[in-house]
Amino acid sequence: MMEAKSPEQGTGSTKSRTSKKSSGAPDKKSFVHDVVIVGGGLAGGVAAIHLASRGVSTLILEKEKGPHHKVCGEFISAEGAELLKEIGIDLLALGAEPVRRFRLHGPHKSCEAKLPTTALGYSRLALDEKILELAEKAGAEVRRGVVVKEKTEGLESPGGHIVLATSQGEVHARRLILATGKSEFRSYQSRTGRDSSYVGFKMHLKLKPSAARQAREHCDLFVFDHGYGGLAPIENGLFNFCFLIEKAALKKIGTDWDALASFIAKHNWEASRYLDGAIPQFKQFAVVSGIPYGFLRNEPAENGVFCVGDQMAVIPSLTGDGMSIAAMTGRAAAMAIIDFRARDGHLRSPTLSAVYQKEMRARLKPQIESGYQLHLLFKRPQLCDWATYVVNAFPKITDLLFLRTRARTGAPRLKVDSAGAKRLEA
Ligand SMILES: Cc1cc2nc3c(=O)[nH]c(=O)nc-3n(C[C@H](O)[C@H](O)[C@H](O)COP(=O)(O)OP(=O)(O)OC[C@H]3O[C@@H](n4cnc5c(N)ncnc54)[C@H](O)[C@@H]3O)c2cc1C
Repeated sequence: MMEAKSPEQGTGSTKSRTSKKSSGAPDKKSFVHDVVIVGGGLAGGVAAIHLASRGVSTLILEKEKGPHHKVCGEFISAEGAELLKEIGIDLLALGAEPVRRFRLHGPHKSCEAKLPTTALGYSRLALDEKILELAEKAGAEVRRGVVVKEKTEGLESPGGHIVLATSQGEVHARRLILATGKSEFRSYQSRTGRDSSYVGFKMHLKLKPSAARQAREHCDLFVFDHGYGGLAPIENGLFNFCFLIEKAALKKIGTDWDALASFIAKHNWEASRYLDGAIPQFKQFAVVSGIPYGFLRNEPAENGVFCVGDQMAVIPSLTGDGMSIAAMTGRAAAMAIIDFRARDGHLRSPTLSAVYQKEMRARLKPQIESGYQLHLLFKRPQLCDWATYVVNAFPKITDLLFLRTRARTGAPRLKVDSAGAKRLEA
């Protein structure tokens, strides 16, 4: 059920008007949203559902006009699936495929182990749409095809609002959730990762029946010269093949499906067995470059601005936990805003976004570090061959590695002690 809104929290009308002036003060007709979310991906969508379902006037601005493919392994770990269930998404009921086991294939050797918890494979094309649909149902306004260009004013401006310049005019808000994922947001601090030298590719494949039987319920990771990748089942009998290749090597290899698939097959004997006869489902790959692996936001949070998902931290892809981090941070930002509103009746606090960011940083630091160490191992294909011996001898070691790269997803709630100090606690 929706909560009633105080006058300060806005009218709840979704007919937002925009001011033509670019002073911080909105004109009389401008609507000031409690929260504007830039980016309608996983983190932004999850935050919107939590906020809007509790009566916070929420606007999502998403640059893409409709459903689109994103570069992602589409491996949703158990904690991520749990966070999605909380907002009404039952992935298994939607047709997601279970992933129970994992195989690591070095260039010449392989190992296999059971995952400590069952993960799910489901396409981002379908998942992100479902999340936006639920955000709208919860009462959020979703505007698609709107590119947010920059933040022109902050909470300290004369108007006391955050002002965004978008491809469709200005938008005013009391809080900003920055959820632009891999895209940098101009006028906000840019991200520097520890390794941004890879280009990510994604293709959905129809495998030959024998390969599909072999790959079912597994996540297969392949390590090869200049990169690594993963194959996992998704809905409708398809498989997602997502991989990274060093940018510098692409000039020689080429970037079309035939060139890349034959390069990978040549450098990883197991990959060749799956890729042989596989039918690509798109004409062109989904591609992304410059991913700042190992990034963890450090600089002081700006007043009223909450960075979520890949804008908060970027874990190396092989861990398959970026979506859980996105859902966890999206929920945490929303809960901090909701708890603060419930306590103080309005949405202003200079320290709230700093409290949120400090807690997220502390939570994610060990996970990002472990993920990055694994990424360094995956950069050495011969070492991965050796690692398969270790895993085959001590399969339980994978439980440890798996758990070290999972997000702590318990819902942090805002606590204010008698001295008025704020912190988030799990
Ligand atoms: C190669 C690769 C493989 C991966 N594999 C996995 C995996 O198997 N499992 C896993 O859990 N994670 C995986 N990840 C990580 C995961 O994809 C991300 O961590 C997750 O998508 C982050 O969610 P997000 O909401 O922060 O960003 P996104 O989901 O990327 O959403 C950002 C949204 O913002 C929009 N946007 C951007 N700029 C603007 C703007 N200026 N104005 C308006 N809208 C804007 C975009 O269109 C987009 O919809 C992988 C990542 C890569 C690169």
